[in-house]
Amino acid sequence: MDIFSDCFSFNLVDKKGKDNICAQELDNLVLSNFIPSSALVLTDASIKDNIATSIVYVHQANYPLIKTVHHAVLVTSSKAKLFTMRCGINQVCNKDNISKIVVITDSIHLVKCIFNSLLHPLQSHSAAILSELRLFFNKSQDNSIEFWECPSRLKWRFHKDVDKDSKSFKSTPIFPYKTSWDFCKKTDSDNIAKQWKMCFQASDGKGNNFLDLLDNDYNIIKPSYIKGGPWLQAFGHSNSLCTRATRAITNHALIGEYRLRFFPNKNFSCPCNEYPIETRRHILHECRRFNGYWNPRRDSLSHFVMFLTLNPKAFAFE
Ligand SMILES: [Zn+2]
Repeated sequence: MDIFSDCFSFNLVDKKGKDNICAQELDNLVLSNFIPSSALVLTDASIKDNIATSIVYVHQANYPLIKTVHHAVLVTSSKAKLFTMRCGINQVCNKDNISKIVVITDSIHLVKCIFNSLLHPLQSHSAAILSELRLFFNKSQDNSIEFWECPSRLKWRFHKDVDKDSKSFKSTPIFPYKTSWDFCKKTDSDNIAKQWKMCFQASDGKGNNFLDLLDNDYNIIKPSYIKGGPWLQAFGHSNSLCTRATRAITNHALIGEYRLRFFPNKNFSCPCNEYPIETRRHILHECRRFNGYWNPRRDSLSHFVMFLTLNPKAFAFE
């Protein structure tokens, strides 16, 4: 990466740009590179019934299109997708007359993996690609590679063909096969998440007073580890908000309902003097001490967080 830093480049899609403009840019890329010394490498992979189909198309002016298909059983989609890139880069690097390689992919995050020098699970492929590229760059100082992002939502015609092709195969494994290390880890992680959800559904796992909140589609929120999980995504950015939200959700809060349970001799009525017991429900839905903001469905996580934000004294120590 230090020696050949001028030889590789990345073109990411402008997230605010319009799809048709992005597609036009890719069209122009094809037109300007449809010369015999350039190779366009389009890759994709898809998984059906645990069988991954990896496809590479190599377009080069004056030469017939080369398609290469590989199948693998029990691998992750990231691995299958990076493998197709490896396969395409390997093919074109070994052609004599190529000076520029253009790789077009919908998985630009995997391209970042290629240039990630830290330890990561896809390193066997990234190391192989880099050693291939080193030989390619050493051949001539004019040799270069460009990586272009083409999100699937663009449905850009060249990429759509590869995508469609990768989904069209129906294969049955005929040889005995092993499970890849990443796939084992993925299966373990899926199983743990499943157990976690089952344990959460049984109320003794999460506590009887747990406040079930809904997501924006009105489904009960279930635990997940993605991006820290649904609750922390909503209020994890602020310590005080997170503390109050946790007290409210678990009903371990400085309110009358809690005092009644653990210190029945203490006062448990609501300071608004309109309700005999200061319950969580009363605070969230009725108590006039708090800003009445609460959505009509009264139970979605986003509105719960909005209520806490607008009422900094709710579920807080005075
Ligand atoms: Zn009250």
